[in-house]
Amino acid sequence: MGCRTKPSRSSNRMAPTTEQRAIARFRNTMPERGLKKPRAPAVAMIRTRFGAVIVFVAVGCVSRPPELPWPAGDIIDLSHAYDADAIFWPTAEPFRLDKVADGITGGGYYYAANNFFTSEHGGTHIDAPVHFAQGHQSVDQIPLDRLLGHAVVVDVSGRAESDADYQVTQDDLLAWERINGSLPAGAIVLLRTGFSRRWPDATQYLGTAERGEAGVAKLHFPGLHPDAARWLITNRSIKAIGIDTASIDYGPSKLFESHRLLYAEDIPAFENLTGLERLPPTGAFIVALPMKIKGGSGAPLRAVAVVPR
Ligand SMILES: [Zn+2]
Repeated sequence: MGCRTKPSRSSNRMAPTTEQRAIARFRNTMPERGLKKPRAPAVAMIRTRFGAVIVFVAVGCVSRPPELPWPAGDIIDLSHAYDADAIFWPTAEPFRLDKVADGITGGGYYYAANNFFTSEHGGTHIDAPVHFAQGHQSVDQIPLDRLLGHAVVVDVSGRAESDADYQVTQDDLLAWERINGSLPAGAIVLLRTGFSRRWPDATQYLGTAERGEAGVAKLHFPGLHPDAARWLITNRSIKAIGIDTASIDYGPSKLFESHRLLYAEDIPAFENLTGLERLPPTGAFIVALPMKIKGGSGAPLRAVAVVPR
């Protein structure tokens, strides 16, 4: 027999003290943080407009963890931490954490708080379509469904290791499909170049630690070839794309064609991801939630993947 909540009716003459006791009992039997509580009936009451009290009793169900539509498995962090070493585009202001309080207050308790500053496009972040597609979605307008889904990982780390300017090609995607089958509709495609291992060494990761426009001219890191972006848009139906480098277009890009092609189709990109080496080619589920900046062209991103055991 399944768990059922059974309503029963009691008199409106019930003494307030009994009611309070029942509510307290209900609260004490609520499951909390997955911890098991002793099996005991849960009691909830609603007072009707006529003064009668409806009592709900759920016997033997309260110790069972809630069944969530959530895949079981190992949870992998795909985001770098924001700190003074976090890598930002050479022309973007880096992350800053300003201490406001850190110590024992006059009240005798400990209190810590900070202010932070960040550019949109640094650290592990999302590019909203409006970043390169006028009139398209800003961060707050990206449908949540785009940010949750089944991940596929295309590993080009071998090629990228010997060529910092490597661009993921249509052939790379087709080679992946020959082994794993066609890219499923609604997939979130993650491009693994292996460059996250170089973080936070900007010279290794970006090709230069120089700041400003002079730094931009010296950028070298892998990205997605515009022809491959075009092929994905034309022939497959993906929700989002991600990469473990600073940009979905490779370092030397001047026209940012992959950005422009993808964002015109409202396909957002996750940049500066990490931990992709821990994901299988298929089977992981990704949750990539950015800070909800109204009108933002990008935002800090906390991305995690659930990998089935
Ligand atoms: Zn960006």
